[in-house]
Amino acid sequence: MDQLKDIIRNIPDFPKKGIVFKDITTLLADAKSFHRMVDLLAHRYVGEKIDQIVGIEARGFILGSALAYKLGTGITLVRKPGKLPYKTRSISYELEYGTDTLEIHEDAFKKGDKVIIADDLLATGGTMAAVVDLVEQFGAEIHECAFMAELEFLEGRSKLPEGKVYSLLKF
Ligand code: 5GP
Repeated sequence: MDQLKDIIRNIPDFPKKGIVFKDITTLLADAKSFHRMVDLLAHRYVGEKIDQIVGIEARGFILGSALAYKLGTGITLVRKPGKLPYKTRSISYELEYGTDTLEIHEDAFKKGDKVIIADDLLATGGTMAAVVDLVEQFGAEIHECAFMAELEFLEGRSKLPEGKVYSLLKF
């Protein structure tokens, strides 16, 4: 696991001063690391009855589609406003400064569908909490929120359903 953590690159002052951004593109670009990361995460869910993976724009699409392929499910996209072509439901959530909005197609799930929501990284938890809310509006069941990495000191998991959060790499 340490090898996977070490390949993630720290970018100081990105996207703004004072933030040290975890650049996961180095992990994605390395064949061994990428395969290991996907295999380890997918292994956790083999044998579970999962109906659908949800991927959050944009880096969540990468983990989400790899997981969906491995588990034999489809992937549903959560996107920034105006990107999805069909009718949508949307949710807005607070950022440090201002708000952000995410959208999903209005026919995304059936009541009772069991889903895994995938994103690259858990920071404050605001993004995933909004997507959990959106998915639950359909009456779908969240099996787990799955992340490649988590910034534990930000305590983002406190905003998410208890016992339904998994991150492979913890910082
Ligand atoms: P949160 O809403 O948990 O504060 O932020 C998580 C969202 O912002 C995720 O969609 C993630 O892609 C992005 N994000 C925030 N900080 C980082 C970071 O240091 N590295 C990466 N790769 N993504 C981040």
